[in-house]
Amino acid sequence: MTDTHAHLDFLEPEELEEAQRHLGELRAVLTLGVDPSRWEKTLNLAQGNVYAAVGLHPTSAHLLSPEVMEALRHYAQKERVRAIGETGLDYYWTPETKAAQLKALDFQAALAEELDLPLVLHVRSRDGKAEEDLAGWLLLHRPKRVVLHAFSGHPALEEAGLKVGAYFSFAGPLTYKKNEALREAAKRLPEERLLVETDTPFLPPEPHRGRRNRPHHVRFTLEKLAEVRGLSFAEAEALTDWNAAACFRWLDPGGTNP
Ligand SMILES: [Zn+2]
Repeated sequence: MTDTHAHLDFLEPEELEEAQRHLGELRAVLTLGVDPSRWEKTLNLAQGNVYAAVGLHPTSAHLLSPEVMEALRHYAQKERVRAIGETGLDYYWTPETKAAQLKALDFQAALAEELDLPLVLHVRSRDGKAEEDLAGWLLLHRPKRVVLHAFSGHPALEEAGLKVGAYFSFAGPLTYKKNEALREAAKRLPEERLLVETDTPFLPPEPHRGRRNRPHHVRFTLEKLAEVRGLSFAEAEALTDWNAAACFRWLDPGGTNP
């Protein structure tokens, strides 16, 4: 199993210990450091089968400055870093910083392109406006490798993502009873575009709803994905492990995975 989106640095010490005890169940984990105060800690956590991403979350986009850009460029070149992000648009928590969010998004997209790293995108709004704006941004900028993290099934984003060859990463909400439309999207998307994630400590899948998430709980989202695709668990696991390795390039040369 691969968890393509976690925030291990958000875990309390005893939660982190528990998460680390279960790392052997996972092929790989990507842990994302989402603001300058978290990049060093995130890199320290990126050992063994844990890899790192560094970026500026849209809700922290107001922090962007020449110094922060320089620091991000510095951390992004570290050996364990396999993606830039998460970046994107969040009009749910911080609608007032839209201009700064776009600026931070453009900068991180250019950095990802320059360093040949995938770009991890976050999007959230009450009315779908951020999703529409991000779909327009995608079609205009066409990043080479891009991940739609915690994909929500928004139709314009699905269409744009397909056009630019994005990866669609499914999180705990895939298991929620009411999300039939999201499961329909998971059923029809091309198999080589599918990823799974936890967004630890957020978005826990059934049956862990209401509690804090852990990377090994990606099993429940993967089980649901297997079910909607008509695959065995082992087939869905091999598929998403392979897709993640292709996206984040943590397959050792000559490796035999899956
Ligand atoms: Zn995240």
